[in-house]
Amino acid sequence: MANPHAARVDEARRLAEPELLERLSGAADGERAAAVAFLALLAEFDRRRLHLEAGYTSIFSYCTTVLRVAEYSASNRIAAARACRRFPVVLERLADGSLNLGTLRLLAPHLEQDNHAALLEAVRGRSRRYVEAMVAALAPLPEVPPSIQKLLFAPVGAPRPAVAPLAADRYKVQFTVGEATSEKLRQAQDLLRREIPSGDPGAIFDRALSLLLEDVARKKLAETTKPRPPRGAEARSRHVPAHVKRAVWLRDSGRCAFVAEDGRRCDARAFLEFHHLEAFGHGGETTVENLSLRCSAHNAHEAERVYGRP
Ligand SMILES: [Zn+2]
Repeated sequence: MANPHAARVDEARRLAEPELLERLSGAADGERAAAVAFLALLAEFDRRRLHLEAGYTSIFSYCTTVLRVAEYSASNRIAAARACRRFPVVLERLADGSLNLGTLRLLAPHLEQDNHAALLEAVRGRSRRYVEAMVAALAPLPEVPPSIQKLLFAPVGAPRPAVAPLAADRYKVQFTVGEATSEKLRQAQDLLRREIPSGDPGAIFDRALSLLLEDVARKKLAETTKPRPPRGAEARSRHVPAHVKRAVWLRDSGRCAFVAEDGRRCDARAFLEFHHLEAFGHGGETTVENLSLRCSAHNAHEAERVYGRP
């Protein structure tokens, strides 16, 4: 018997690009509308505490067991449903996409009758990182005292590295290192005792990162010791000379310069490559004017546009 879901994949494969984009956007709208309908029902379910009657100790276990909602998503939805009960305007914001379940979860504990309108306005369309910083500024947590602890047992599961904002300009960074790295940190603390008497790992981390960034930038954009060939010869070679790389890098602010049709620029800063605006294979030159930074994904995407899919 034919699988109707597999048929959808085949159908999607046959769509022309504008129709594919339109349907994709329509499906995202539909998904949001369905999520809002779900929350309204869940809020009422929660108000009536129907999970108890159904034999579940918590609405969470009802959601994950009976409704088969994923665990990570169940807590977000329950928190959202409760926020919607207190502030029905939240449903509107979720429906129009200016708020999502992740950012709502962060904001929910801070919503009160007298501030919810202003807070919901402030996070309209904002990223998770922005909302995290905003929430930290609303209720600053005490700074974490610097500490290096030896773990007696390996943590269960993969340890999650964390960088969490504590207040407007303070971040808590937490990770686990091996014996060798811990020893290096001790050495650095001893050697820097005069400059950093407290041995603050944060200050040492900052110095180490500054040196690392300088080193990486120097290597990435290294000036070769070879004398520069005449300008014309450079332009007809695929090799990008260091002084050209630096100029392009600076002009494009070390960021992928791909701009979508709606004007949104890609924000990738890692694994950047030098892209020929007029393709090298079509006579485009290796000059500052004809080069532009691209992340590897966008560089490959543009190469495909010119040369077709490999
Ligand atoms: Zn990009």
